[in-house]
Amino acid sequence: MVHPKEYPVILIGAGPACITAAIQLKRSNISFLMIGKDPGGLIANANLIENLLGFPKGISGENFVSLILTQLKNHSITILEDEVLAVDYKESKYFVKTKQNQFVGKKIIIGTGTLPRKMNISDESLLFEQRKLFYEIKNTIHIKQPEKWIIIGSGDAAYDYALNLASRSNHVTILQRSESSKALPLLINRVQKISQIQVKCNVSVLKLDRKSSNVVLTVSEGHQETLLSADRVLVAIGRHPNTYFLSNDLSSKVDDLILQGSLFMVGDVKNKSFRQVSIAMGDGLWAAMTILGNFK
Ligand SMILES: Cc1cc2nc3c(=O)[nH]c(=O)nc-3n(C[C@H](O)[C@H](O)[C@H](O)COP(=O)(O)OP(=O)(O)OC[C@H]3O[C@@H](n4cnc5c(N)ncnc54)[C@H](O)[C@@H]3O)c2cc1C
Repeated sequence: MVHPKEYPVILIGAGPACITAAIQLKRSNISFLMIGKDPGGLIANANLIENLLGFPKGISGENFVSLILTQLKNHSITILEDEVLAVDYKESKYFVKTKQNQFVGKKIIIGTGTLPRKMNISDESLLFEQRKLFYEIKNTIHIKQPEKWIIIGSGDAAYDYALNLASRSNHVTILQRSESSKALPLLINRVQKISQIQVKCNVSVLKLDRKSSNVVLTVSEGHQETLLSADRVLVAIGRHPNTYFLSNDLSSKVDDLILQGSLFMVGDVKNKSFRQVSIAMGDGLWAAMTILGNFK
């Protein structure tokens, strides 16, 4: 029987949190394996990042990801691009199963971010498979623009996506359930100044259908049901921690293992509403330095 390869540290995730941890581990001469699908992470979606030090004019998410991946390369760090399907903990070791392989780690850093909240209404999954409905913007860049988009949501991400799509000449309607938006006032002001973006308040989406090349939304506005139509729909109604791969047994031990210093949760996966790049990077750095301290 071939034994899975063993590492002092396994990192799961390839967003800002794990990338920062990986660079610090490398600088500290600690060997590790970094497994991540979709290198760069969620920030690739950002229209303009303005709260990161070092970028006085702000930077697009796409350019930021390109820089951090170059930084990884300059440190000769490679990402095993694979999806982790299961993680279990037995006899003081972590057993990590990916689509292609199995590995064992003495310590583990989990920076797997968040998953989008779904609406759970009819035809949502079908439209997603048909690339008519999206939860992120980064996979839409190659779509021939301009188009008519409907964004469902009222937070920072919904408003950021609207600005991004409008900058590519698309027409955008934001549908929000209540009268007011939860987005930063700065984003609301920017959206208000752009004629291609319309905001409709007090609208609940009841149903989604595909009619030839369009998506038709049945919505309730006040006491009335009406139909709206768009080329594509983007759903941005929140996100939740991504830990689907943890076994039930490991999930029940997470808090103890964090206290013992063998398991680290970094970035959005644990940061609740404090989901920001600088915080994620700080978490990654903290985890790597704590591990170095334990090895000394
Ligand atoms: C539209 C938008 C705009 C934003 N703008 C800003 C901004 O201006 N400023 C700011 O500070 N923050 C912003 N954010 C938030 C920022 O993107 C996150 O805080 C940051 O990306 C979190 O980094 P992370 O490493 O914790 O997680 P993520 O970036 O989510 O990375 C998670 C990584 O784990 C990988 N992964 C997940 N599951 C598995 C698995 N099972 N196996 C292997 N790999 C896996 C993912 O593919 C990804 O590589 C924005 C977010 C959005 C959506």
